[in-house]
Amino acid sequence: MTLKAYLHDHLAAIAWFFIGLALLCFGLWLDPGQRVRWDTLLYIAVLVTGLAAALLAWHYTRTKKWVKAFTDRQSAGAEALDWPLNPASSHEHAAISEAYNHVLREHRQAQSELIARQQDQKAFIDSWVHEIKVPLAAAGLLQDSLDGQAPEKPLDDLALQLDKINFYVEQVLYYSRLDSFSKDYLLREYDLKPLVDGVIVDQRNSFIDRRISFTLNGHSLTVVTDEKWLRFILGQLVSNALKYTAPGGKITATIQDAKTEATLTIADTGIGIPQDELHRVFEKGFTGTNGRNANQRSTGLGLYLADQLSQKLGHHLTIRSTVGKGTAVTIHFPHLSFYGESGATLTKPDLK
Ligand code: ATP
Ligand code: MG
Repeated sequence: MTLKAYLHDHLAAIAWFFIGLALLCFGLWLDPGQRVRWDTLLYIAVLVTGLAAALLAWHYTRTKKWVKAFTDRQSAGAEALDWPLNPASSHEHAAISEAYNHVLREHRQAQSELIARQQDQKAFIDSWVHEIKVPLAAAGLLQDSLDGQAPEKPLDDLALQLDKINFYVEQVLYYSRLDSFSKDYLLREYDLKPLVDGVIVDQRNSFIDRRISFTLNGHSLTVVTDEKWLRFILGQLVSNALKYTAPGGKITATIQDAKTEATLTIADTGIGIPQDELHRVFEKGFTGTNGRNANQRSTGLGLYLADQLSQKLGHHLTIRSTVGKGTAVTIHFPHLSFYGESGATLTKPDLK
């Protein structure tokens, strides 16, 4: 709190003080029983004003300290939630501190309850995913065992539906683990080509069902990433490309290396995304015109998760699309620059 702001706040009190002082001096001067000299009156006025100024200065330092306690907490942001106010000496400040600390305590309690409930839900989802995987795997084995004994078409359809269930179960799992990502990743160098191939093989039934061809362009390239999470991101991009491309279309994966980054682009020849929706596709739950019209189940979580996870891995996603021509989503893997290398953020110290 500045002195100017303080004086502004106490302008009325200061004005009343001077009016009171003037009235006092005037009263003394007018009183016929008192023979007060002008200079004595002036001396009293200066003395009282000096005392009042000292009192005001003391009060200003106290108020400044009190206000600082709040501004410090405001600039501390979320950390201020664990920062109660110290006990105050005056009754007025004590009442405010008590109310403030009470709100803090209530907030902390509500937060702890919320976290506990969220963890509970997460644990339930994790165990549910774990449980559902067993019958899913059994259904897969059952379908394999029927190979050659049952007609091919329903078996293929069954495999496709099982793939879809697996895909959505995975999505649920990754969604619930998004917050605990930091505990579950392993950054290493991985070759992009086998990774892409693995994802395509996982979704082979959809490729066959929708009669969509796949081409992989570019040389093999290693990037620093986490295999499991990147596979999931790629899975979401490929599944979108499959979902929003008409039968007979084409999906292309292109690996490229540039000076500052490596990129992997998944492009399709599908229906494309309207320009005014393009900036929203990474939002949680956004399904857009295609999600609603393409006669497909859409939750709008795929690209949101892919984008969030990419950022956690130090990559990022960009998207280009033309309605009627297709969509291309690119994963950017910035090259890591090491100490002393060109492009490094640290400059080498001069050791001469
Ligand atoms: P989910 O992935 O959860 O099953 P979804 O595919 O609808 O549902 P996202 O993957 O997040 O959700 O995609 C968001 C929206 O972006 C989609 O609903 C669709 O409108 C649009 N979209 C994404 N990829 C493509 C694509 N390759 N071609 C056309 N539209 C796309
Ligand atoms: Mg999707």
